Amino acid sequence: MTHKSLGLSDALYRYLLSVSLREPAVLRQLREETVLHPLQMMQVTPDEGQFLSLLVQLMGARKTLEVGVFTGYSSLAVALALPADGQVIACDVSEEYTAIARRYWQQAGVAHKIDLRLAPALDTLDALIDEGHSSSFDLAFIDADKGNYLNYYERSLQLVRPGGLIVADNVLWSGSVIDAADQSDSTNAIRRFNKVLHQDTRITLCMVPMSDGLTLAIRR
Ligand code: CA
Repeated sequence: MTHKSLGLSDALYRYLLSVSLREPAVLRQLREETVLHPLQMMQVTPDEGQFLSLLVQLMGARKTLEVGVFTGYSSLAVALALPADGQVIACDVSEEYTAIARRYWQQAGVAHKIDLRLAPALDTLDALIDEGHSSSFDLAFIDADKGNYLNYYERSLQLVRPGGLIVADNVLWSGSVIDAADQSDSTNAIRRFNKVLHQDTRITLCMVPMSDGLTLAIRR
């Protein structure tokens, strides 16, 4: 089974999935293939993928951004929820992991909706800003290297439209954010990210204890 949401017992998480998960077969296949991967903990949980697809539908999103693709579960969930002319611009640096993603995007018939940019995400985001994409995205999902979260956030805030949504994953970092003994770079970066957003008056903010912790920030 995929790792549970923080704070839920395994049994309660299984129950939650049993009465709410509506996972398309192609997403289930991708999840099951990724579970065998040594970095499988980087995969979003299925309830989180379903939540992202609900947000896409709720917002009537057409153009979304993803920072951190890995094997493609979240981008596939989002692409399946987008309208036929919807678009995901997806940033990652790994040819190897995104090869798996591409295979499933093809299989699901949504590859035409996903524009994969294989480059450091900051370069891609800066290029998008230079190319005039500011204030044009409905939603941005940030799930990549934690040390750059604030950098990804600042650029995403520029790229989403007013009323657009930024979703950031792993903001509770397996609970290590409250472990004072954990002073690793990633943990400190997440703590700093959470503190900065709490004080940021440019956004409407909510933190959801789903999966490994999700921050939702609407650009005002
Ligand atoms: Ca993640």
